[in-house]
Amino acid sequence: MIRKNISVDEILNNFNNQSKLSSLISKYVQLSPRGNSFIGKCPFHNEKTPSFNVNDDKGLFYCFGCKVGGNAITFISKYKNLSFPESIKYLADMLGIEINYENKEELQKKKNKLFVYNLVNDFFKNALDQNKNAYNYANSRIKNKKNEFFGRFRERLIFPIFNFSDKVVGFGGREINENSRIKYINSQESEIFKKSELLYGFKQNSEVIKKKKK
Ligand SMILES: [Zn+2]
Repeated sequence: MIRKNISVDEILNNFNNQSKLSSLISKYVQLSPRGNSFIGKCPFHNEKTPSFNVNDDKGLFYCFGCKVGGNAITFISKYKNLSFPESIKYLADMLGIEINYENKEELQKKKNKLFVYNLVNDFFKNALDQNKNAYNYANSRIKNKKNEFFGRFRERLIFPIFNFSDKVVGFGGREINENSRIKYINSQESEIFKKSELLYGFKQNSEVIKKKKK
């Protein structure tokens, strides 16, 4: 099974369906059955009397000595000293689930590239500030470059769209000549421009929101 991404709940459900927490932990800790659970000496602190409990029904472990507890991911992370994503990967491998995470650096590079919008924003601003000549010049540059992004907003008044960290992540363009059937168009959805994650006008209104607390 190849998965692009997997949620914590999914991996834990998969784990609990296919395996038992006691089977995983007993690879590293000697466990003995007691009632509905298993008990053993805690691997996270030194002890002579076992106070480390594993409950397969709940998929949880807990140590009454050092109060460390959690699920399969927590155990792997603590025992093997792995990061949270590494522990998920470890469990996924164990369950035969292949996860293809997008390389973090690649994703950041992609995002950084897209923050060029902040420069584009200055460009649009200057073009507008420097009156109609600048505006026309900008328009002709836009036309010649055959760049879709610029072309998309030809003959439109451009509004920058900010994310919650005040960075320009896209643009909205309102038609000027009233000859387009579409009044407003936005930048295409991208890694940094996701309409569902943005609140238009938040930056401009954040002070008022803070004051009015609504
Ligand atoms: Zn302990």
